[in-house]
Amino acid sequence: MNNQLAVIKEAVEAQLNAIKDPATGKGLLLSGRISGLEVRDGGKVSFTIEAPADVAEHYVALRERAETEARKVEGVSQVLAVLTAHGPKQTSVGGVARIKHIIAVASAKGGVGKSTVAVNLAAAFASLGLKTGLLDLDVYGPSAPTLLGTGARRPQMSRDKILDPLDAHGLKTMSIGYLVDAASPMIWRGAMATSAVRQMIDEVAWGDLDVLLLDLPPGTGDVQLTLVQRVPLAGAVIVSTPQEVALADVRRGLAMFDKAKAPILGVVENMAYFETPDGKRTHIFGEGGARRTAEAAGVPFLGEIPIEVALRESCDAGAPLVTTQPTSAVSQRFIAIAQAALANVARLSKPAPSIRLI
Ligand code: ADP
Repeated sequence: MNNQLAVIKEAVEAQLNAIKDPATGKGLLLSGRISGLEVRDGGKVSFTIEAPADVAEHYVALRERAETEARKVEGVSQVLAVLTAHGPKQTSVGGVARIKHIIAVASAKGGVGKSTVAVNLAAAFASLGLKTGLLDLDVYGPSAPTLLGTGARRPQMSRDKILDPLDAHGLKTMSIGYLVDAASPMIWRGAMATSAVRQMIDEVAWGDLDVLLLDLPPGTGDVQLTLVQRVPLAGAVIVSTPQEVALADVRRGLAMFDKAKAPILGVVENMAYFETPDGKRTHIFGEGGARRTAEAAGVPFLGEIPIEVALRESCDAGAPLVTTQPTSAVSQRFIAIAQAALANVARLSKPAPSIRLI
């Protein structure tokens, strides 16, 4: 870390320690509530507030205050505080235990840009300073290897039959495409995906992750339901285009995630419009359908992504636009959507017996 970032970090620590921890009455830092405080280039600050589970609700407002106070430090451009609450015992096993939030990215139909959104959302989480993984479970058309440019590489098996995920563009990534033969019949592939999903979380050396995004197969059928029931989800993001989405599709998605006991973090409208260089917008697939549907279904709307040539090119080039052109308007939208989704993880997650996110 360079000197300037170290100075900022110290000043942020001082601001945070000036906030009293409700449980101990001492400063937040001194009470050991703050972990993973990082200051990255451009003054992006991120940290976790670890609240005691029994009084976790006292920390919801405190998280916002901590963000506000940290933002006051000179040189800070962005602050992201994630709230986690730990119960007295943590008994989860395997890879899941070291992953803070597992978020599914789903769509009712194929071809709506679910994988494009999943990859760029993952890059957006990483750009916010979160350790992020992307697990491509789209057994019918795994595309993460193409979108991340890892297609020619193969994950290595290290010790004890544990697979090492690939590192690409600051993300850890694995794809079902590496395990399931693309030539095998569709019906087998669904079954293989469901039997492989736990393996791909528990038997992959993800390490400590803040967020693992699951790129689900399109649809809301049995294969998808079984997948999402096998992992403890913090929530789901539903991707749709303005016209593809029908209320019934989103309702099916809601029902599916309800069975899996995972909240809907929100709906993303992809291919929302096309903007010509003179700023004129054409709503090729209709206007605002996903937003209206989300509102009608009572779930959050996270934002719109326009049809963008640079986004399509970045998919073909195998590097997320959010990583290669982080300041572009579309990348900024992905980052805003990632922030909104995280805020909803904090707001919507239900208490679980061991760890709960609030
Ligand atoms: P899905 O996962 O829903 O099947 P993909 O993410 O693979 O869809 O996207 C399908 C194609 O559409 C890809 O070639 C991708 O590059 C392109 N695409 C997706 N979203 C956009 C967008 N907003 N602007 C331009 N091209 C897009």
